Amino acid sequence: MVSALFSEAIFKPQVAVNRTIAGACKLGHARQMHQNRAAEASKHNAEISPILASLQEIHAKYQQDFSGKVATYIPELAKADTSLFGIALVTADGQVYQTGDANHWFTIQSISKPFVYGVALEDQGLDYVLSKVGVEPTGEAFNSIVFDERRNRPFNPMVNAGAIATTALIKGTGHDQRLARLLGKFSDLAGRPLSIDHAVYTSERTTGHRNRAIAYLELNFGMIDEPVNEHLDLYFEQCSILVSARDLAVMAATLANNGVNPLTGKRALDEPYVKNVLSVMYSCGMYDYAGEWSYRIGLPAKSGVGGGIIAVLPGQFGIGTFSAPLDEQGNSWRGIRACEDLSKRFKLHMFKSRLATGVVVRRSYRNTTVRSKRRRGAAAETILGEKGSSVCVYELQGSLFFSTMEQVLRQVTNDMDSFTYLILDFKRVLQLDECARALLAQTNEMLNRCGKTLLSAHLAEDRADSCEPGGQSGFFADIDSALEWCEDQLLQQEHPELLRERRKVPFAAMDILAGFDHRETALIESIAEEMRYSPGATIVREGDRADSLYLLAAGRVSICLRINDGARRQRLSTLSPGLAFGDVALLDGGTRSADVIADEPTRCYVLPFAKLQTLAVSHPEVFSRLIGNIGRELSARLRRADAEIRSLAD
Ligand code: GLN
Repeated sequence: MVSALFSEAIFKPQVAVNRTIAGACKLGHARQMHQNRAAEASKHNAEISPILASLQEIHAKYQQDFSGKVATYIPELAKADTSLFGIALVTADGQVYQTGDANHWFTIQSISKPFVYGVALEDQGLDYVLSKVGVEPTGEAFNSIVFDERRNRPFNPMVNAGAIATTALIKGTGHDQRLARLLGKFSDLAGRPLSIDHAVYTSERTTGHRNRAIAYLELNFGMIDEPVNEHLDLYFEQCSILVSARDLAVMAATLANNGVNPLTGKRALDEPYVKNVLSVMYSCGMYDYAGEWSYRIGLPAKSGVGGGIIAVLPGQFGIGTFSAPLDEQGNSWRGIRACEDLSKRFKLHMFKSRLATGVVVRRSYRNTTVRSKRRRGAAAETILGEKGSSVCVYELQGSLFFSTMEQVLRQVTNDMDSFTYLILDFKRVLQLDECARALLAQTNEMLNRCGKTLLSAHLAEDRADSCEPGGQSGFFADIDSALEWCEDQLLQQEHPELLRERRKVPFAAMDILAGFDHRETALIESIAEEMRYSPGATIVREGDRADSLYLLAAGRVSICLRINDGARRQRLSTLSPGLAFGDVALLDGGTRSADVIADEPTRCYVLPFAKLQTLAVSHPEVFSRLIGNIGRELSARLRRADAEIRSLAD
C-alpha cells in the first residue's frame, strides 16, 4: 500500500534563525565598531552560556601567546595585526556563539579550496572532477609541486596544485561570469554578500610565481586547459575573499547542515557533494599536519595562510577561528590550539560514537486496545473486538537510520504472523535518512507479498489522506484516521452492511432500544421527532441547556471540543448510525459538554427530555430500562477508555 512514495517522504526544513551570543571583544577595525555595541548588549551571556564561557576561556588562554609568524610571501599579508584573535561556533540550526575579534575581516586564502571544490562538483559532476583532481593526501606542504603522475592529476583539491585545477573546472563564459558564480556561492555559504580584498589580490597576483609555475606545469601535462591566466586570476581572487571568523563558522555550519545555510535557510551546496567536500577536508585539509590533526582533533577542517581555520562536526556545528600568526605548517598557531582545546573539552572527535539509539518503538499496541475515535454500533464493536488484534500500531521515535530502522524491522519480523495491517506512526520521528527510507520501501514490498498492508501516520503531511474514505495511498494524517481506515476494512470483510451509513437505520434497530418489545418501541417512537441536518450544521452546542436525547438514524456526526475559545476544534469521536448522543445530560441534567457537528447529511430521532419525563411517570419500567441501556453503553465506553489509558501507562 505505502509504495515507493516512502522515498519522497518530506520533513519540514530547518527554519532559518539568526541568534548570536557574543562575548565582549577587542576590535581591530573602526569599520567594525557597530559590533562593540552588540557585544556590549550581550556580554552577560557568558554567565549563562557554558558554551560561550568556554570559548572565552580558550580565547583568554591564547590571546597573549604570540608564537608563530604571519605569512609574508604574499607581501600584503605581512601587514596583519598579530594581536587579533577571534573564535566563532555556529550550530547546524543557526545559533551563533562568538568571542574576541570574530568580526574582523581577513582573506579566506586556502579555506576557499573546499568550497570551490564543492562548486566544481556541482558544475562538472563527481566522475569528471575525480578524473581531474585526486583525493589522496600528499603529506607535503600546501604549495608543494608534486603530482600524481600515474593518474596525471594533482593529488587532492586542498593543496595549491589541486585547488588551481579545481578552479579551472568552474563553469561560465569568461572571467567575470565565473567570478560572479564563485562570489555568489561563497555569499550563500556565509549568508551575507562577500567581496574581494583587492590589495591582497593584487599583491598575490604580482608575486605568486610559484602558483603560476604550478598552473603552467599543469597545462603542460594536460591536467588543465587554457585560459591559464584566467584560472590563476580566479584562484587569486577566491583566496582574497574577505571573511570573518564568524563568516567562516557560518560556512562551516552550512557544511554541518548538509549544505543549507542555517542562518538564511538557503541551500548553498548540493547535498550529495557535502560529504565529498568533508572527506577531503578530513584527509587533506591541514596539509602535512592533516594526519595528526585527524588523530588529535578528529574533525574535517581547513586552514588558510590568512590565519583562518574552519572545522566541522557534521550534523552539529561549524567552528571558525582567526589569528594571523602561523606555525611551521602554515596553520594558524592560536587557531590550531583553540580547535584542539575545544575538541578535547567538548569531546568532539568524530570517531567517538555519540549515537544513543535507545528505544525506537516507544509503544506498540493493537486495535483491540486502542480504537479509533469512531464510535460504532454494538454489532460493529463485537466484530472489532474479535478482529482488532490484526491491526498493529508502532509509535516510532527519534532518528531513523540503519541501526534504529533495524530495531523496527526486527519487531516487524517478530509480530508479522499476528497482524494483517501495520500502522507506523512517525509523529515523533525527527529524521528518516535515505537508508531508512529504502528499508521501509523494501519492508512495504515484503509485507505486500505476504498479503499484509503497511500504513503510515504523520509521514508526508501534504500527502496524507486524512479521513477521506478509502485512503488509497497508505499515508494518513494521524494514527486515528489510519486506525479508522483499518476498522472499515475489517468491517467490510466481515459485515459490509454495517458500513452503509447513508441508509436510514429503523427506529427499532437503535442500540439504545435493545431488549424492548414491539409495543414498547412503538411507545418511545411516538414521542420521537425526526430531524434532518445538513453537513457542517451544529446539532448540539457546548454550554447550551440540554433538552433532548438524539438517536443517529443516518449520516455521521462528530463530537468536538472547542479549544482556545473556539479558535480550533478537537474531535473527540465520530458516531455511526444506531448510536445515541446527548445522553449524559439526560443522566446528570447538566448543560452540553461538547459540540456535535453533522459531518454528512444527517438524520436523527430526537426525544425531548420533557416527553421522556412524562414517559417516566406513565411507564416507569420502560424508562428505567432505557436508562439501563444508556448506562451499559456508557460503561462499555468507560472500560475501553480505561484499557487505552492503561496501555499508555506501560
Ligand atoms: N593564496 C595562497 C597561496 O596560494 C593560499 C595558500 C594557503 O592559504 N595555504 O599561496
